[in-house]
Amino acid sequence: MNIVVCIKQVPNTNEVKLDPVTGTLIRDGVPSIINPDDKAGLEAALRLKDATGAHVTVLSMGPPQADAVLREAMAMGADDAVLVTDRAFGGADTLATSTTIAAALKKIPYDLIITGRQAIDGDTAQVGPQIAEHLNIPNVSYAEEIQVEGDTVTVKRQYEDRYHVVKVKMPCLITALSELNQPRYMTPGGIFDAYREKQVTVWGLNDIEVDTDKIGLKGSPTRVFKSFPKSLKAAGTVVQLDAEDAADYMLEKLREKFII
Ligand SMILES: Cc1cc2nc3c(=O)[nH]c(=O)nc-3n(C[C@H](O)[C@H](O)[C@H](O)COP(=O)(O)OP(=O)(O)OC[C@H]3O[C@@H](n4cnc5c(N)ncnc54)[C@H](O)[C@@H]3O)c2cc1C
Repeated sequence: MNIVVCIKQVPNTNEVKLDPVTGTLIRDGVPSIINPDDKAGLEAALRLKDATGAHVTVLSMGPPQADAVLREAMAMGADDAVLVTDRAFGGADTLATSTTIAAALKKIPYDLIITGRQAIDGDTAQVGPQIAEHLNIPNVSYAEEIQVEGDTVTVKRQYEDRYHVVKVKMPCLITALSELNQPRYMTPGGIFDAYREKQVTVWGLNDIEVDTDKIGLKGSPTRVFKSFPKSLKAAGTVVQLDAEDAADYMLEKLREKFII
């Protein structure tokens, strides 16, 4: 079985701060990590590799420094890594991103493609399902459990108040939740192999078959028009009431804001 896991390099958003003057993100000194949902997806693939001998390839689209997350994935146990990188891919929205990634995936043998549910920087949760559409394969999102038997994948799909057990035939695409598992650490031997022995395959625009009108900024139907931090709420109001009136007051305020 061939599994391809799409991993995105993201700034660790727990550590990102806003510049109070310009309102832009301060990325200096903020470490980049494997997006958490993708890391769980990778761990799920590696467990399938442990159980069935599956071949695991990791793929990332991004600037050359995304090499680091691919090496980390190989140090955890992935067999191969592909970096899709070219200036022409820059400025992409989710449609252009998924178009590029799908074009690269067409060159890699796959039975199962795993993406994360969502990236913690863009936060759209659109890229996985869009890749499935481009490749015309079924997609099950929000996987909190994945099992493989023969050519069938059984996924426990999370909803707000329930779950569905969905069976799907391969080839298919699953989007993984970070709750899926606890990813393993890199091993020392894995780190040596990943940095000394193994190669990351690098593909630019000329290595994949894609319509240049559908990638990068040009191929993006959406544009980020403005970005800004959310303004602080006004100072709170202090009211002096006895316990019963205070409860009524709070209920009324919550109703006013449609919170309850
Ligand atoms: C309106 C709009 C305009 C944008 N304009 C720009 C821009 O001008 N410049 C710019 O740099 N960015 C831009 N972006 C951000 C860019 O579109 C996203 O970073 C990218 O499309 C991935 O979307 P996401 O982060 O929401 O991922 P999600 O859809 O939340 O990711 C889901 C999963 O898809 C996979 N995945 C996503 N991206 C990658 C990747 N690159 N490589 C491998 N796997 C991946 C991962 O497994 C991930 O967990 C824009 C986004 C939007 C919504």
